[in-house]
This record gives sequence, structure tokens and C-alpha cells, in this order.
Amino acid sequence: MRLFAIFGDPVAHSRSPLMHNMVFKTLGYSGCYTRIQLKDGSKLRETFFNLGLSGANITVPHKEAAFNACDEIRGFANKVGVVNTIIEQDGKLIGYNTDADGFMFAIAPFKNIKTVLVLGAGGTSKALTERFRDEGLSVTVMNRSSKRLESFKENGFETVTWEEVEVKAYDLVVNTTSAGLQDENLPAPDDLITSLLKKASYAADAIYGKRTPFLKLCDTLSITVKDGADMLLGQGVLANAYFTQEQLPLESIRTAMQKSFEL
Ligand code: NDP
Repeated sequence: MRLFAIFGDPVAHSRSPLMHNMVFKTLGYSGCYTRIQLKDGSKLRETFFNLGLSGANITVPHKEAAFNACDEIRGFANKVGVVNTIIEQDGKLIGYNTDADGFMFAIAPFKNIKTVLVLGAGGTSKALTERFRDEGLSVTVMNRSSKRLESFKENGFETVTWEEVEVKAYDLVVNTTSAGLQDENLPAPDDLITSLLKKASYAADAIYGKRTPFLKLCDTLSITVKDGADMLLGQGVLANAYFTQEQLPLESIRTAMQKSFEL
């Protein structure tokens, strides 16, 4: 049996074990997926090998550490320096990023998106902003602190802190901060985020599994909003295809994984 895991801190909330085990069980694949709380991202590589894993997902706050832990990076992850999926191949760690494609799957029903305001400047933001730019969208990144915005600025994105942002109409506002994940915080001060959302057409939150203050605020403003569940499904399907070495049909993975959301 092949063993897989998700690394993160916190990680107890993660639905990934349920999702991947549902696929393994439904499709008769000999695999088992667990969760590992990892405090120190620099220990990722040795922990992976010590446990004899065949593959892993990486969540907050270790996605950049995961990039550095890999021997080889493939595809979109090269562009963003952020890895959320690792597989072991001939003793080497191969890194991928499936978050951005997962998110595009989630917002497919949103039409005529041209301008996006991305809240947060962490690993998820890095992946999504690059992907939005690939799609030809105009992207502004807003973050609580200026430090993490520097790399976005150098990379040609429009960047703003809470103090600098101009309240204007964005087609889509995306929360990629971890505000609301383990607390009841909004991703920006109440007045500011409310004014921004009032002018927006659509919103999306990367967080799943709870009605975050951001999602609740969108509900009160009657904005069409997606939580992180579809993004989670999309990235999970692609990760599972890497884990199972593309032996299982993508649609079968998707159908099986979707069932885990009913549990
Ligand atoms: P990182 O730790 O890399 O980045 C966190 C970001 O959140 C930083 O920009 C940080 O700002 C900001 N932040 C944290 N707390 C607050 C706060 N109270 N108010 C405002 N900003 C805050 O995280 P990731 O990018 O890896 O993940 C972000 C979120 O996306 C997580 O909640 C994660 O669960 C979710 N996620 C969901 C996925 C899905 O499939 N649905 C996939 C991937 C991620 P600062 O720089 O100022 O500290």
C-alpha cells in the first residue's frame, strides 16, 4: 500500500484525507492518506522520507518551504515558487502546484471577469495572481503588511496595503488570507472590506469548511460568492492524478472525490 499525507500547521481541519481516501476506496487503489502537523517547514523533506511517503499535499504555511524541499519542479509551480503537491520518483521529490487550476475550476461560473482584487500575499495569492495574469486579467494585490508585497511588485503586479488601496469596482474580490480560518477576523478592516465588496460583482474565499466572516459579509451584501470547497475539489483531483501516476481517469477521480463532500 502506498502512503500519502498532508503537511500543514494547523492541519486538523483539512478534508484532504477524506477526499483522497474516498478516491482510493471507491476506485480500488491501494493507498492510504493521513495528516501530519509540521511546525518547522525545513523538516518537510526528512519527514517525508522518514515516513516512507509516496506523495503529499502541503498547506499553510509551508508551500514555499515545499518548493525548496523538492529536487525537481514541474509545470506552473516553476512560475510561482509555490508547491502544494509532491510526489516521490526514484528517490527524488517532484513538486507541482494544483491550486491555481483548482481555483479556475471553482470560478468557471463567474462571467465577464476582467479585474481582480486579491486579498493576501502568501503562497495561494502567488499562484492565483500568476494564473489570473495568464488569463489576461488585471490584478491588484492587497495585503495587511507591505513586506510580502515586495515580490509581487517586482513581478509587475499592482500592489497596495490597506492604507493605500483605492476603493473602486473590481469584478472579483478573492480572499487568500488565512483571516477567518481559525478566528473570526475579516481579511481587512470592516469599513474597507465592506466598501470594496459593495462595488464588486463576485467574491471568492479560499477557505473552506466554515462560513468565514468574509463569506458572511458577502451574504449580507448579496454578492455572488464561492467558498473554497470547489477550489479544494479541483486541486485535489489534479493532485490525486499525480499521486496515482495518472492511472485513474480524471472524471472518475472527480466523481469519487465529490462524494467525500457529502460526509
Ligand atoms: P500564507 O501563510 O502563505 O499567507 C497568509 C496571508 O494571509 C498573508 O498575506 C497574511 O498577511 C494574511 N493574513 C493572515 N492573517 C491575516 C489577518 N488576520 N488579516 C489580514 N491578513 C491576514 O497562506 P496560504 O496562502 O498558504 O493560504 C491562505 C489561505 O488559503 C488559508 O486559509 C488556506 O486554508 C486557504 N487555501 C485553500 C485552498 C483550497 O483548496 N480551498 C488551497 C490553498 C489555500 P501578512 O503578510 O500581513 O502576514
